[in-house]
Amino acid sequence: MLDTLRRLVQEVNAARNLDQALEIIVQRVKAAMAADVCSVYLRDAEQQAHVLMATEGLNPQSIGRVRLSDSEGLVGLVSERAEPVNLENAPDHVRYRYFPETGEERYHGFLGVPIIHHRKVLGVLIVQQRARRKFDEDSVSFLVTVASQLAGAIAHAEASGGINGLREPVCAVSGLQRPLEGLPGAAGVAIGTAVVLYPPAVLESIPDRAPADVEAEVTAFREAVRRVREDLHILSERLRGVLPPEDHALFNAYQMMLEGDSLVGDTVTRIRAGNWAPGALRETIEAHVRVFDAMDDAYLRERGDDLRDLGRRILMSLQQDELARSEFPKDTVLVGEEVSASMLAEVPQDRLVGVVSVRGSRTSHVAILARALGIPAVMGAGDLPVGRVDGCRIVADGYSGRVYVAPAPAIISEYRRLAREEAELAAGLQGLRDLRAETPDGVHIPLYVNTGLMADITPSRNSGAEGIGLYRTEFPFMIRQSFPGESEQCQIYRQALEAFAPRPVTLRTLDVGGDKALPYFPIKEDNPFLGWRGIRITLDHPEIFLVQLRAMLRASVGLDNLQILLPMVSTVSELDEALGLLRRAYQELQEEGEPVAWPRVGVMVEVPSAVYLADALARRADFLSVGTNDLTQYLLAVDRNNARVAELYDSLHPAVLRALIQVVEAGHRNGKPVSVCGEMAGDPAAALLLLGMGMDALSMSVSSLPRVKWMIRKFSRAEARALLEEVLALDDVEAIRGRLERALEEAGLGGLVRAGK
Ligand code: PEP
Ligand code: MG
Repeated sequence: MLDTLRRLVQEVNAARNLDQALEIIVQRVKAAMAADVCSVYLRDAEQQAHVLMATEGLNPQSIGRVRLSDSEGLVGLVSERAEPVNLENAPDHVRYRYFPETGEERYHGFLGVPIIHHRKVLGVLIVQQRARRKFDEDSVSFLVTVASQLAGAIAHAEASGGINGLREPVCAVSGLQRPLEGLPGAAGVAIGTAVVLYPPAVLESIPDRAPADVEAEVTAFREAVRRVREDLHILSERLRGVLPPEDHALFNAYQMMLEGDSLVGDTVTRIRAGNWAPGALRETIEAHVRVFDAMDDAYLRERGDDLRDLGRRILMSLQQDELARSEFPKDTVLVGEEVSASMLAEVPQDRLVGVVSVRGSRTSHVAILARALGIPAVMGAGDLPVGRVDGCRIVADGYSGRVYVAPAPAIISEYRRLAREEAELAAGLQGLRDLRAETPDGVHIPLYVNTGLMADITPSRNSGAEGIGLYRTEFPFMIRQSFPGESEQCQIYRQALEAFAPRPVTLRTLDVGGDKALPYFPIKEDNPFLGWRGIRITLDHPEIFLVQLRAMLRASVGLDNLQILLPMVSTVSELDEALGLLRRAYQELQEEGEPVAWPRVGVMVEVPSAVYLADALARRADFLSVGTNDLTQYLLAVDRNNARVAELYDSLHPAVLRALIQVVEAGHRNGKPVSVCGEMAGDPAAALLLLGMGMDALSMSVSSLPRVKWMIRKFSRAEARALLEEVLALDDVEAIRGRLERALEEAGLGGLVRAGK
């Protein structure tokens, strides 16, 4: 059964549309369970009914015609109960309904299971038997497992509209009727043209696209294959005698696949049928791999991997020819399966108006970047049919996380109105630039910026920020081919220190690991967020750490506005060791005659142990800075990048609020300031609570700064404290957020938490 299930899931995942997926399901399940009928009903939420979408065994003409309202029939019962219904003789049941349209005799044995995705019943999967049959426990488990495995694929396919003309972009067919639900990534509203970018040489994420010139595509494809053949030949000769003969035989197999007509011929046929070369190649490889994957023999199944590898090689060769996309519409909304920092960099800044990523969440680093650039972003739009939206009009609401593909004109004009209001609001906020971030009762809360992108130093400096509260040094490390040397780092840091001097600039030491990888320093771990990250890596590699510390100290010579921040500290000894290395770097430089000054050193409080050790850390450090992005992730045990659990990720969780209070109290007990540099500080509603807690400074993306300043100038600390007291009595995040939003609305600041003014 497990094997059948595995194959079924593979086939369904490879299906190119909903109809095909459902057809595969009903055929395979009927055969596997030796049933007379297998059918799938999907729920039409708008009509509150279940519609027969696929069947093997009933009259095919009834597909799309048989409709049951939610309260009707056994289908409705399964859906309503959200659990299996197993009946030996269905007609005996009060909820039984016979449909003459199916043109079939009455069936007796009945087993129906709900198809549930994210707690929502999407439909019902049913098997029926002519004879009486009570399905045994194994059969029930099998059907439940099939339904649970298929729910995601069905949800995804359904979101694309279940339309047949699949090569067509969604907008060329009929558009998506409903908005897609994603997660707020960066505030603002984007209206523009979807441009899909995909990572190089990832065959699976290549979209279908109509070719501009069919013959040119065919030629490019044949040329790519020729190059791969040549490369493989050279590689094969080089490795002859080095590899054992059985491994070397792989090259022959590759050559045979490339010479045989099926791979090349099939792809050419697909190009001629109207798909561009990379899309046609993906289709061919997927079809061939499916055959291998379905084989019982493990050895042959592995050949599917070889084929994938070969596909990747041809794709890489094809992409060599394809110039990087040089033309972007002036209202580009960048769309991708997993939008990366380098994709963001690919689009000229003046053409980028929004970002939509299928994966990731608000605290993914790409969302942080979008906020730094002031670009509205939606993350975790899991149901977006990425391969079919290129070139479509798209609206991304960075407040609610909603995405509209080819929406009705009324929706576009409503969003245009909201975008206009947004622009007016932003222009109004500009006026705050030179005003102090001071509450009406005279409390000054310095607002700093989070940065790390060289390109955005200027907007940061022009934002009215009182310094840099978090400079993520990993960005300069990420865009290179090897670790940058001391003088190169020194130069980069100097620019930031100079830009803000005499105001403080907080350089955080290298914080890679987790979701931030360096291409030249790969780390492979099962649980990267619980693994080798941040200070754990730099303490294990003093040669990297010392170079960075020396570069920071040298960069600050004569300016003396450097603050050093240590990430991911979970024990006091890590802080002691880091201070020891800093002392060494400082002494070395002094001995070398550099007039370096001892910097202020801060600790990031971003793991739960640091909350409990806050007193000891505050005694040793000059300041504490709370990294709420990671602290929330670790306190709530919710991966900050996982869209599936993103609803559980909220820094307003009462547990996070209590932890923050504990850290402020510990810092102040030891006479040390406490600030927040996680994304929470840039959320005006959350910042209101941080103000009430007594935080000494807040650091955020440059685009959030005017909004938070507006809030601070409206609320006294006393009011914020009272509000904090009030929400501490609430147990539920939703209630807390609701209360804060109400407070902002009442103060006339509703535009900070929703689209419009
Ligand atoms: C944090 O964890 O809150 C933080 C500011 O660091 P990063 O987002 O870079 O992990
Ligand atoms: Mg962090």
